[in-house]
Amino acid sequence: MSIRGILFDVDDTLIDYAATARIGLLGHLRAEDQLWLFESPDEAVALWRSLEEEHYPRFLAGELTFKGQQLVRTELFLAHIGIRVTDPSAWFADYAARRDVAWITFPDVPPTLRALAGQVALGIVSNSALAHQQDKLRSVGLLDHFGDAVLCSAEFGTAKPDPAIFLAGCTMLELPPDEVAYVGDRFDTDGLGARNAGLRAYWLDRTARGVAHRDGVTIIPSLVELSATTFASGLDTL
Ligand SMILES: [Mg+2]
Repeated sequence: MSIRGILFDVDDTLIDYAATARIGLLGHLRAEDQLWLFESPDEAVALWRSLEEEHYPRFLAGELTFKGQQLVRTELFLAHIGIRVTDPSAWFADYAARRDVAWITFPDVPPTLRALAGQVALGIVSNSALAHQQDKLRSVGLLDHFGDAVLCSAEFGTAKPDPAIFLAGCTMLELPPDEVAYVGDRFDTDGLGARNAGLRAYWLDRTARGVAHRDGVTIIPSLVELSATTFASGLDTL
Protein backbone atom coordinates (compact mmCIF):
# COMPACT_ATOMS: atom_id res chain seq x y z
CA MET A 1 0.00 0.00 0.00
CA SER A 2 1.59 3.23 -1.07
CA ILE A 3 1.26 6.60 0.55
CA ARG A 4 -0.81 9.04 -1.49
CA GLY A 5 -1.07 11.89 0.98
CA ILE A 6 0.97 13.52 3.73
CA LEU A 7 -0.42 15.57 6.59
CA PHE A 8 1.96 17.80 8.52
CA ASP A 9 2.10 19.34 11.94
CA VAL A 10 3.16 23.01 11.75
CA ASP A 11 5.06 24.22 14.82
CA ASP A 12 8.55 22.80 15.22
CA THR A 13 7.91 20.58 12.19
CA LEU A 14 7.59 23.02 9.26
CA ILE A 15 8.11 26.25 11.19
CA ASP A 16 10.98 26.69 13.64
CA TYR A 17 8.62 27.82 16.38
CA ALA A 18 11.14 27.59 19.20
CA ALA A 19 13.69 29.79 17.43
CA THR A 20 11.09 32.31 16.31
CA ALA A 21 9.47 32.57 19.74
CA ARG A 22 12.92 33.18 21.22
CA ILE A 23 13.57 36.04 18.80
CA GLY A 24 10.20 37.60 19.58
CA LEU A 25 10.50 37.23 23.34
CA LEU A 26 14.05 38.54 23.69
CA GLY A 27 13.37 41.43 21.32
CA HIS A 28 10.28 42.39 23.28
CA LEU A 29 12.01 42.10 26.67
CA ARG A 30 14.84 44.31 25.47
CA ALA A 31 12.40 46.89 24.15
CA GLU A 32 10.53 46.87 27.46
CA ASP A 33 13.80 47.03 29.43
CA GLN A 34 12.80 43.83 31.23
CA LEU A 35 15.45 41.38 30.05
CA TRP A 36 17.90 42.38 32.78
CA LEU A 37 15.39 41.18 35.39
CA PHE A 38 16.20 37.58 34.40
CA GLU A 39 19.42 35.79 35.24
CA SER A 40 20.03 35.22 31.54
CA PRO A 41 18.21 35.28 28.20
CA ASP A 42 18.12 31.49 28.32
CA GLU A 43 16.33 31.60 31.67
CA ALA A 44 13.69 33.94 30.26
CA VAL A 45 13.16 31.75 27.19
CA ALA A 46 12.99 28.57 29.28
CA LEU A 47 10.38 30.07 31.60
CA TRP A 48 8.31 31.36 28.69
CA ARG A 49 8.44 27.97 27.02
CA SER A 50 7.55 26.06 30.19
CA LEU A 51 4.51 28.28 30.79
CA GLU A 52 3.40 27.63 27.23
CA GLU A 53 3.83 23.87 27.69
CA GLU A 54 1.73 24.10 30.84
CA HIS A 55 -1.07 26.39 29.74
CA TYR A 56 -1.45 25.94 25.96
CA PRO A 57 -2.91 22.44 26.55
CA ARG A 58 -5.62 24.12 28.66
CA PHE A 59 -6.71 25.90 25.47
CA LEU A 60 -6.62 22.61 23.56
CA ALA A 61 -8.79 21.04 26.27
CA GLY A 62 -11.33 23.86 25.99
CA GLU A 63 -10.55 25.13 29.47
CA LEU A 64 -9.19 28.49 28.25
CA THR A 65 -9.72 30.48 25.07
CA PHE A 66 -6.82 31.06 22.68
CA LYS A 67 -6.50 34.58 24.07
CA GLY A 68 -7.08 33.40 27.62
CA GLN A 69 -4.07 31.12 27.62
CA GLN A 70 -1.95 34.00 26.27
CA LEU A 71 -2.99 36.19 29.18
CA VAL A 72 -2.36 33.53 31.82
CA ARG A 73 1.12 32.89 30.41
CA THR A 74 1.90 36.60 30.33
CA GLU A 75 0.74 37.29 33.89
CA LEU A 76 2.65 34.34 35.36
CA PHE A 77 5.77 35.19 33.35
CA LEU A 78 5.81 38.79 34.52
CA ALA A 79 4.95 37.81 38.10
CA HIS A 80 8.21 35.84 38.10
CA ILE A 81 10.12 39.11 37.78
CA GLY A 82 7.79 41.00 40.09
CA ILE A 83 5.98 42.96 37.44
CA ARG A 84 2.25 43.47 37.15
CA VAL A 85 1.10 45.21 33.96
CA THR A 86 -2.26 46.88 33.64
CA ASP A 87 -2.85 45.37 30.21
CA PRO A 88 -1.25 41.92 29.77
CA SER A 89 -2.96 41.51 26.41
CA ALA A 90 -1.06 44.55 25.09
CA TRP A 91 2.20 43.08 26.41
CA PHE A 92 1.48 39.78 24.66
CA ALA A 93 0.44 41.57 21.46
CA ASP A 94 3.74 43.43 21.34
CA TYR A 95 5.62 40.15 21.84
CA ALA A 96 3.53 38.45 19.15
CA ALA A 97 4.08 41.32 16.73
CA ARG A 98 7.86 40.86 17.01
CA ARG A 99 7.51 37.08 16.69
CA ASP A 100 5.10 37.18 13.77
CA VAL A 101 7.49 39.09 11.51
CA ALA A 102 10.25 36.60 12.30
CA TRP A 103 8.76 33.20 11.38
CA ILE A 104 11.35 30.94 9.81
CA THR A 105 11.18 27.46 8.33
CA PHE A 106 13.70 24.70 8.80
CA PRO A 107 16.02 24.55 5.78
CA ASP A 108 14.76 21.12 4.67
CA VAL A 109 11.13 22.25 4.45
CA PRO A 110 10.89 24.28 1.20
CA PRO A 111 12.84 21.80 -0.96
CA THR A 112 10.93 18.84 0.50
CA LEU A 113 7.54 20.41 -0.15
CA ARG A 114 8.57 21.40 -3.66
CA ALA A 115 9.70 17.83 -4.34
CA LEU A 116 6.47 16.35 -2.99
CA ALA A 117 4.16 18.79 -4.80
CA GLY A 118 2.20 16.96 -7.46
CA GLN A 119 3.45 13.57 -6.21
CA VAL A 120 1.13 13.28 -3.22
CA ALA A 121 -1.70 15.28 -1.65
CA LEU A 122 -0.45 17.64 1.07
CA GLY A 123 -2.31 18.98 4.08
CA ILE A 124 -2.03 20.34 7.61
CA VAL A 125 -3.50 19.09 10.89
CA SER A 126 -2.53 21.47 13.69
CA ASN A 127 -3.42 22.03 17.33
CA SER A 128 -4.04 25.73 16.86
CA ALA A 129 -6.39 28.25 15.27
CA LEU A 130 -6.87 28.38 11.51
CA ALA A 131 -6.29 32.07 10.76
CA HIS A 132 -3.21 32.08 12.99
CA GLN A 133 -1.65 29.09 11.21
CA GLN A 134 -2.61 30.33 7.74
CA ASP A 135 -0.95 33.69 8.44
CA LYS A 136 2.15 31.92 9.72
CA LEU A 137 2.43 29.60 6.71
CA ARG A 138 1.71 32.45 4.29
CA SER A 139 4.44 34.60 5.81
CA VAL A 140 7.10 32.00 5.00
CA GLY A 141 5.68 31.20 1.56
CA LEU A 142 4.41 27.71 2.39
CA LEU A 143 0.64 28.17 2.43
CA ASP A 144 0.22 27.61 -1.32
CA HIS A 145 1.49 24.04 -0.92
CA PHE A 146 -1.59 23.22 1.14
CA GLY A 147 -4.33 25.41 -0.31
CA ASP A 148 -7.55 24.78 1.61
CA ALA A 149 -6.24 21.57 3.15
CA VAL A 150 -5.52 23.15 6.53
CA LEU A 151 -7.37 21.74 9.54
CA CYS A 152 -6.97 23.23 13.02
CA SER A 153 -8.24 22.04 16.36
CA ALA A 154 -9.85 25.34 17.38
CA GLU A 155 -12.33 25.13 14.50
CA PHE A 156 -12.60 21.33 14.42
CA GLY A 157 -13.46 20.98 18.09
CA THR A 158 -10.97 18.37 19.29
CA ALA A 159 -7.19 18.31 19.27
CA LYS A 160 -4.45 15.78 18.54
CA PRO A 161 -4.01 13.07 19.78
CA ASP A 162 -7.76 12.53 19.38
CA PRO A 163 -8.07 10.15 16.41
CA ALA A 164 -11.03 12.18 15.11
CA ILE A 165 -8.91 15.10 13.96
CA PHE A 166 -6.44 12.83 12.15
CA LEU A 167 -9.31 11.05 10.41
CA ALA A 168 -10.85 14.39 9.47
CA GLY A 169 -7.50 15.29 7.92
CA CYS A 170 -7.65 12.14 5.78
CA THR A 171 -11.20 12.99 4.74
CA MET A 172 -9.95 16.45 3.82
CA LEU A 173 -7.44 14.81 1.46
CA GLU A 174 -10.12 12.35 0.27
CA LEU A 175 -7.88 9.40 1.14
CA PRO A 176 -8.20 6.44 3.51
CA PRO A 177 -6.01 6.65 6.66
CA ASP A 178 -3.71 3.82 5.63
CA GLU A 179 -2.70 5.80 2.53
CA VAL A 180 -1.88 8.93 4.52
CA ALA A 181 1.33 9.73 6.40
CA TYR A 182 1.36 12.08 9.34
CA VAL A 183 4.56 13.92 10.24
CA GLY A 184 5.06 15.79 13.49
CA ASP A 185 7.67 16.62 16.11
CA ARG A 186 5.91 15.22 19.20
CA PHE A 187 6.12 11.49 19.73
CA ASP A 188 2.94 11.14 21.79
CA THR A 189 0.67 13.79 20.29
CA ASP A 190 1.74 13.33 16.68
CA GLY A 191 3.38 9.91 16.35
CA LEU A 192 1.25 7.76 18.61
CA GLY A 193 -1.84 9.86 17.88
CA ALA A 194 -1.55 9.29 14.13
CA ARG A 195 -0.72 5.60 14.60
CA ASN A 196 -3.76 5.09 16.80
CA ALA A 197 -5.96 6.69 14.14
CA GLY A 198 -4.65 4.23 11.54
CA LEU A 199 -2.37 6.60 9.62
CA ARG A 200 1.30 5.99 8.76
CA ALA A 201 2.98 7.75 11.64
CA TYR A 202 6.29 9.61 11.29
CA TRP A 203 7.95 11.26 14.25
CA LEU A 204 10.32 14.02 13.17
CA ASP A 205 13.12 13.95 15.73
CA ARG A 206 15.76 16.33 14.47
CA THR A 207 18.22 14.95 17.05
CA ALA A 208 17.90 11.38 15.75
CA ARG A 209 20.92 9.86 14.02
CA GLY A 210 18.98 8.00 11.38
CA VAL A 211 15.70 6.38 10.48
CA ALA A 212 14.36 4.05 13.18
CA HIS A 213 11.12 2.51 14.37
CA ARG A 214 9.40 2.57 17.73
CA ASP A 215 5.95 1.37 18.73
CA GLY A 216 4.64 1.48 15.18
CA VAL A 217 6.03 4.95 14.56
CA THR A 218 8.81 5.67 12.06
CA ILE A 219 11.42 8.08 13.41
CA ILE A 220 13.00 10.39 10.84
CA PRO A 221 15.82 12.87 11.53
CA SER A 222 14.78 15.30 8.79
CA LEU A 223 12.13 15.87 6.17
CA VAL A 224 14.64 14.90 3.50
CA GLU A 225 13.40 11.35 4.06
CA LEU A 226 10.10 12.50 2.62
CA SER A 227 11.60 13.84 -0.59
CA ALA A 228 10.27 12.61 -3.88
CA THR A 229 13.37 10.53 -4.51
CA THR A 230 13.03 8.61 -1.29
CA PHE A 231 9.31 8.49 -1.78
CA ALA A 232 9.71 6.85 -5.15
CA SER A 233 11.93 4.18 -3.65
CA GLY A 234 9.33 3.41 -1.04
CA LEU A 235 8.56 5.78 1.80
CA ASP A 236 6.24 3.11 3.15
CA THR A 237 9.16 0.74 3.58
CA LEU A 238 11.28 3.08 5.66
MG1 LIG B 1 4.68 20.58 16.64
